[in-house]
Amino acid sequence: MVRQFPRPCIVVSRCIEFDPCRYDGSQIPSSTVAHLKPFTDFIPVCPEVEIGLGIPRATVRIVRVEGIDHLIQPATGRDVSDDMIRFSSRFLDSLPSVDGFILKGGSPTSGTSNVRVYPSAGKSMAIEKSAGFFAREVIKRFPHHPIEDELRLNNARIRDHFLTAIFTLAAFREAEEARDPEALVKFHANNKLLLMACNQQLMRKMGRIVAARAAMNPEELYLNYRRMLGSAFASAPRYTSNINVLQHALGHFSDQVTREEREYALRLIERYREGHATLAEPRGLLRSWVIRFNEASLMDQTFFGPYPFELADLPDDITERGRDVWKSRKPRDTPDSSTNEPIR
Ligand code: SF4
Repeated sequence: MVRQFPRPCIVVSRCIEFDPCRYDGSQIPSSTVAHLKPFTDFIPVCPEVEIGLGIPRATVRIVRVEGIDHLIQPATGRDVSDDMIRFSSRFLDSLPSVDGFILKGGSPTSGTSNVRVYPSAGKSMAIEKSAGFFAREVIKRFPHHPIEDELRLNNARIRDHFLTAIFTLAAFREAEEARDPEALVKFHANNKLLLMACNQQLMRKMGRIVAARAAMNPEELYLNYRRMLGSAFASAPRYTSNINVLQHALGHFSDQVTREEREYALRLIERYREGHATLAEPRGLLRSWVIRFNEASLMDQTFFGPYPFELADLPDDITERGRDVWKSRKPRDTPDSSTNEPIR
């Protein structure tokens, strides 16, 4: 069960843990990015510096004029919208295959949501919240990729899902590079419980695509599967779906553990159901049983260890805070996972 993890390739806002390139020459700390560094290939980018705004610089803001958004630097009156759009296209076109994005929250350039839009460059109240100029292009071009901001990643549930998604997509990318249909069979089998938790309907559809692999050329096969995989990860699993998977796994050990051990596992699941524990607690216990009883049918299931163990040790500042933040953004392009049924 010791898994070799591929290295996800992640685009990150350069001001997060890489360079002091913010408008005031500061840098943003992020324990998630700091902890990910040894396990990830990061591509840092600062779009404002790339279009020549310099460090330090006067701030920019999004200003809506006659229904059209502009990126304006109020102190100089410069409209850098076209420069930013051109840079974004050029940069995103030049990227290798990437597995996700971590962008700076709240920035009129890089923020993925909740960025203030103003009616004028002068003193005024925000009229709406939206995504930043660069982030809009990212969201448009990568609708099936995990895109988060560093603030949302302080939430344990969001962080767990993001890490799960990027390491799963990196593993898929490795299989995809080989273009071997049998590698996809193995990938799908190993991720079955994980996909069940994310979206049971999609997991079944993906299973049908894999079963019909002989009728498709490998390119088409991987493309179709990749789209569904992205949709499956578009939102975090409902906690009830995770509980279904945990209970399903627990069933494998009913003859092997004592009554007390089973009751303890059920208590951990209950703690998770009530919101007093993260998924890591019951998942970790069941993972230890998979190893202890050498349970072959679960041994390769990524559900029990979707990303490197070292990343599961949450730093002090990572808590369950921010549940509301999770709810504040609509899932992108995902079928309704609320239709998940109990696992049989
Ligand atoms: S938020 Fe984006 S544009 Fe602003 S400093 Fe960070 S990377 Fe540069």
